[in-house]
Amino acid sequence: MMLSISPISAFSDNYIWCVARHGEAIIVDPGDAAPVLQHLKEMGLTLSAIIITHHHYDHVNGIELLLEHYPNIPVYGPENQCASIGYRLKHDDCITLLNQTFKILAVPGHTLDHIAYYLEDADSGPALFCGDTLFAGGCGRLFEGTPEQMLTSLGLIQALPANTAIYCAHEYTVNNLRFAREVEPDNSELLVRFENAQAMRTDNIPTVPSKLALELLTNPFLRTDNSAVQERVATHAELKYWNQNDIFANLRAWKDDF
Ligand SMILES: [Zn+2]
Repeated sequence: MMLSISPISAFSDNYIWCVARHGEAIIVDPGDAAPVLQHLKEMGLTLSAIIITHHHYDHVNGIELLLEHYPNIPVYGPENQCASIGYRLKHDDCITLLNQTFKILAVPGHTLDHIAYYLEDADSGPALFCGDTLFAGGCGRLFEGTPEQMLTSLGLIQALPANTAIYCAHEYTVNNLRFAREVEPDNSELLVRFENAQAMRTDNIPTVPSKLALELLTNPFLRTDNSAVQERVATHAELKYWNQNDIFANLRAWKDDF
């Protein structure tokens, strides 16, 4: 039976991911329990595990109420202050859930504890649950980590197979692509993607998951080795000399003010 991966909308623009097979579900980053409980009920699913990418409230605040309903399930996550996490994971760890192997990538930057879950054998191709690290058309803000850390973390994701589906945690795509167009006004794939994303949002369709291949072509935060992106960021930030890390840091700062 195929694995099914569905978004559960929460707050104003969060996606909580539900991965299900044979009536069992695992939930990624339940920031709120109510929409998760409703989804499980509607779909006739039993919760069997929770996996967490990082400590922010909109990713963890639903854990305790879910554990009241499902007291014996494991909660996996990174090393952080979140007391409900029973199993602490680090880079290169593997866990098996729903008979599937999830490989852990440490991806500090947005927060220092941030991890991502790579599912190699999803029936429809590889999948990455990357929380607030890589977004469709953008990347997470640097609340705790350095630009160097985030650039390294994004490099780990870039090295995954190009057909990897990117399951990020927010619907930020149109805004991200609007910024991306400022950075790369001549990128024709980006223009097409921007128009597609706008049309999807008009019809209230989630723009995620995206594919890594498309991110590599259109997401400026994965393109700081591209000379057109470098020239544009250097001009904007008035840099005379730069390395890729300077470009990434100034690109992120430019987006923060956008
Ligand atoms: Zn976050």
